[in-house]
Amino acid sequence: MSAVEQSRRLATAIPGPRSLELAVRRSAAVARGVSSVLPVYARRAGGGIVEDVDGNRLIDLGSGIAVTTVGNAAPRVSAAVAAAAAEFTHTCFMVTPYRGYVEVCEQLNRLTPGRGPKRSALFNSGAEAVENAVKIARAYTGRQAVAAFDHAYHGRTNLTMALTSKAMPYKSGFGPFAPEVYRAPMSYPYRDALSDPELAGNGALAAERAIAMLDKQIGAANLAAVIIEPIQGEGGFIVPAPGFLPTLLAWCRDRGVVFIADEVQTGFARTGAMFACEDEGIEPDLIATAKGIADGLPLAAVTGRAEIMDAPHAAGLGGTYGGNPVACAAALATIETLELDGLVDRARQIGALTMDRLGRLAAEDDRIGELRGRGAMIAVELVRPGGAEPDAELTRRVAAGAHAAGVIVLTCGTFGNVLRLLPPLTISDALLTEGLDVLAEVLAALPR
Ligand SMILES: *Cc1c(COP(=O)(O)O)cnc(C)c1O
Repeated sequence: MSAVEQSRRLATAIPGPRSLELAVRRSAAVARGVSSVLPVYARRAGGGIVEDVDGNRLIDLGSGIAVTTVGNAAPRVSAAVAAAAAEFTHTCFMVTPYRGYVEVCEQLNRLTPGRGPKRSALFNSGAEAVENAVKIARAYTGRQAVAAFDHAYHGRTNLTMALTSKAMPYKSGFGPFAPEVYRAPMSYPYRDALSDPELAGNGALAAERAIAMLDKQIGAANLAAVIIEPIQGEGGFIVPAPGFLPTLLAWCRDRGVVFIADEVQTGFARTGAMFACEDEGIEPDLIATAKGIADGLPLAAVTGRAEIMDAPHAAGLGGTYGGNPVACAAALATIETLELDGLVDRARQIGALTMDRLGRLAAEDDRIGELRGRGAMIAVELVRPGGAEPDAELTRRVAAGAHAAGVIVLTCGTFGNVLRLLPPLTISDALLTEGLDVLAEVLAALPR
């Protein structure tokens, strides 16, 4: 297979005729509830490009939602997958185990923050990892309640819908939801500043606000776990004020509450560290991972302190496919690629380049309320000029304009007004700059 040419190319309108043909078949065959951001049908992808079935080449600023961090079809991953699939595709780790599963767990225990003995268990999706982290925390503590935060996203299964904050499109009509789930106020510096500037800059104070709620409405003695994304993903790439996470963690430690970091979106070099928790040096009890773990093969994990991970009884955890051998081979090759190719540093370079280019844009356009994020996880929050009122319509139009111009960009946010950038770490500076220039041009062309 030849490498995908690393240049943007519009061969047809977006979507082109072949994609439109597939769209007709899709609507007759695929359930409506499953939707797509950009209805061009992919043919191949790599580096910083997704090529579609009409021969269009799009700049990829989404990585399939923070998954293909090491580049789509990364050479080491493709080779490892082919080799593993030729040996065996499945035995079920719960029937006859295999080395790859053990090796992925060893790597996770080595790479995740936290000293002392650790254990891991493997699953298929981020939601499944989160569900299992909660099961483990309940088994360890003998308590039931779980607290999540405003703007949180933890998945689409029943328990993770309950943990997720936003009703549309994730929850509406799909209840009743799992019980014993509580929601605490998040630290959202940009929006906190509108009402309380002190809270915005002081993460410890914002944590005290959350802790007061946990204390009064649940009580630590009933609380099995607090779960939080160190930088919130779907909720809008919200980076809590410094001090927020450490203060929460300290409170949890003192009271025997398991602190779960959901690093499904932030993990594996995305934020310019192997895991986002490293930024403030916090060591969560449990870490849920998925997305960037295996370059798109379905794999997820829970990793954490041995005494907590080992709390559930034998055979209490598992699943038919969990830790599939081909997915494990992909994960090992992904981790090798992250380390050998220096991709943690590359994420920081991408962050610096993006902040520089978009920072100049933000300085002259007050529709950019805030530019935030870390590493290759950067967001642009769009607002009405002269204030902070979320502008979801502008956000939708910028994304649509970028798509028409051959740039894949995603949106997010509780208010639907955040453009999010998650480029693969293998994108060239030239392609990244071109993609950011397209975003700037599209925004400039839209009337204020
Ligand atoms: C995507 C995501 C999940 C859910 O992962 P799936 O693999 O889609 O089930 C959970 N938590 C966070 C932070 C995510 O970004």
